[in-house]
Amino acid sequence: MKILIVEDEPKTGDYLKQGLTEAGFVADLARNGPDGLHLGLSEDYDLVVLDIMLPGLDGWQVLRELRQAGRHAPVLFLTARDQVEDRVKGLELGADDYLVKPFAFSELLARCRSLLRRGKAKEPETLKAADLELDLMRRRVTRAGRRIDLTAKEFALLELLLRRQGEVLPRSLIASQVWDMNFDSDTNVIEVAMRRLRAKIDDDFEPKLIRTVRGMGYVFENPETT
Ligand code: CA
Repeated sequence: MKILIVEDEPKTGDYLKQGLTEAGFVADLARNGPDGLHLGLSEDYDLVVLDIMLPGLDGWQVLRELRQAGRHAPVLFLTARDQVEDRVKGLELGADDYLVKPFAFSELLARCRSLLRRGKAKEPETLKAADLELDLMRRRVTRAGRRIDLTAKEFALLELLLRRQGEVLPRSLIASQVWDMNFDSDTNVIEVAMRRLRAKIDDDFEPKLIRTVRGMGYVFENPETT
């Protein structure tokens, strides 16, 4: 397990690096924002411990750049007590947790371990069935290698069908999961969206993957497992 520490205060940085190394991790230390970003982009880390107030680039900027570059290692923010309100901003930007300075090392270690466990449990970034692929990070869909443009709702619908492939999904479940609404039999919003989705992913391809189960709902059939 490899951890990147970005901390400009020399004593804290050394202490963190030494502590995490003694705890059995491989730990790299960067002492300013640009160095931290450079390391974060060039190496593959399982976790980033990121101070907010840093020379060059602050922690938020580093985090934003890492996420934009597709680096999804969990990030633990270190924040001074008077910046606690700012934690919301960090969490919105994709930090996974934060710790207020000063902190006990045992607390930091517990947080790191918990984030690493969560990180490991993270789901795969791609869902596949037959020749269909959903890239969950980039929100991209291809079938037989051909790129297919879906709206956000169509993507959510396809993701739900694919995650629960082989299961007949009633309209009420689809309504609550994809539209966050209670099923109203007067609306044909699901039928319309389903028709558009099938036109995009099934019409030009064989075999057909989505099937209507009359009076029940819809099912995604993976030809490799049925
Ligand atoms: Ca600092």
